[in-house]
Amino acid sequence: MNNMSGKMDFLKDLINNLKEQNLYGELPVLSTEQKNRVVLNGRDVLMMCSNNYLGFANHPRLRAAAKLAIDKWGFGTGAVRQIAGTMEIHNQLEKMLAAYKHTESSLVFVAGIAANRGTIQSLMGEEDAIISDELNHGSIIDGVRLTKSARKIYPHLDMNGLEKALKETKDARRRLIVTDGVFSMDGDIAPLDRIVELAEEYDAMVMVDDAHGDGVLGKDGRGIINHFGLEGRVDIDMGTLSKAFGCLGGYIAGRKELRDYLINTARSFIFTTAHPPSVCAATMEAIKMIQDEPQHLRQLWENTRYFKKGMSDLGFDIGHSLTPITPVMAGNSMTAVELSRQLFEEGLFAKPIVFPLVARDRARVRINLTAQHTKDDLDEALRIFERVGKRMKLVQGF
Ligand SMILES: *Cc1c(COP(=O)(O)O)cnc(C)c1O
Repeated sequence: MNNMSGKMDFLKDLINNLKEQNLYGELPVLSTEQKNRVVLNGRDVLMMCSNNYLGFANHPRLRAAAKLAIDKWGFGTGAVRQIAGTMEIHNQLEKMLAAYKHTESSLVFVAGIAANRGTIQSLMGEEDAIISDELNHGSIIDGVRLTKSARKIYPHLDMNGLEKALKETKDARRRLIVTDGVFSMDGDIAPLDRIVELAEEYDAMVMVDDAHGDGVLGKDGRGIINHFGLEGRVDIDMGTLSKAFGCLGGYIAGRKELRDYLINTARSFIFTTAHPPSVCAATMEAIKMIQDEPQHLRQLWENTRYFKKGMSDLGFDIGHSLTPITPVMAGNSMTAVELSRQLFEEGLFAKPIVFPLVARDRARVRINLTAQHTKDDLDEALRIFERVGKRMKLVQGF
């Protein structure tokens, strides 16, 4: 140990603060691949909080595609995209993604968070204004913070609030409305049709973060823009390759000039090494698979309906989600932490989500359904929720 001075001792106090607020946790560790049933922290449990919506993260077709790519291209890329890291396979992936998304072009970033940070930072300057839903994802907030633009935050999904912000920013050089498509804590959906109408009326750009809509909403999982029939009317379609696609990375889809500009200016694109070719290959396989094996998407929605109905019948408050994201309301933070702990004891893993991520009295355990869950898995999950819910008096006992 070379901990020579007390300089870093402040961390102990900061950690204690986090613990007092129920905001401290260790990293849960998997001893298996990501799937419906896993070994986590040494226990056999039902996995109920991954974003592996379609079960692609461990799918044989993606594994095979990645292995072939490793044989052909090797593992690493050894350079940033702009210098020497771009291989043909990166361009192939971007062409394929654009075709799938029905846009002119796309650009892949190392992560969704990098796509949000880099894009917002690169497009928006001091004379501009950004208008953002109050519950937008942290990576959007980071992107906004990287700019000197004026900011307006409107109340969650409140279209009057959005219109007010548009009126208040009429002197800005350019305006960007940015919103999550599917909100990750509640599973509700932005009224994108109305947002686009307002944007057209007030001449503002629209950027939608489709991290939880990609592979879940729209025809063949094309996402929220397709779901609302708004293709061609949303300026910046952002998403991740790391959730339903089962891989890793973020992307921006839109006009060709958007890509041309971002490759030269987005710092989170420029200053980071290119994706391994195996990740590109697996992602391309995922995009193919989502179109030629529609059963995964169908199963995801069947599972979603079945589980939500079961939970409602048991008397749980599961909010107003319209997607596989299913918040199970617990009340205060301590109750949510305890609910998660007892579920784990009974063989179900789902993390608690507490203040300040959600309101103080809306702490919850968030369930995510996947296509991989079997009917037996879901029935077992419902039995576990029933036992624990009655014990904790979250639902009526007898
Ligand atoms: C997960 C997520 C991201 C970040 O994506 P990564 O690829 O994991 O970096 C961005 N936005 C939203 C809404 C997300 O849920």
